[in-house]
Amino acid sequence: MDKLVYRFKRHSNIGMRLLECPECKEILERQDIEDFTNCPYCLKDLPYNYELEDYLLDPLVEMWQAQEQSRDELMDETPEFTANLVI
Ligand SMILES: [Zn+2]
Repeated sequence: MDKLVYRFKRHSNIGMRLLECPECKEILERQDIEDFTNCPYCLKDLPYNYELEDYLLDPLVEMWQAQEQSRDELMDETPEFTANLVI
């Protein structure tokens, strides 16, 4: 197991994780590091590891969960919808 490189803070309002630069402790948003994995504040090269990848994927995972939820809601309506079709 690799040593953990990054520290995360949790956004108090939206509950999203925020990445802290290991060097200057500034909070790095996803758009800051999506294209260049450098800290925009201290220009430190951020090692690309599973922690960073995980962080970048967080919004996607939340979107999938939201989609999953709306699909479940759709499924609940399906029997009624089928009945209408038969008539
Ligand atoms: Zn930094």
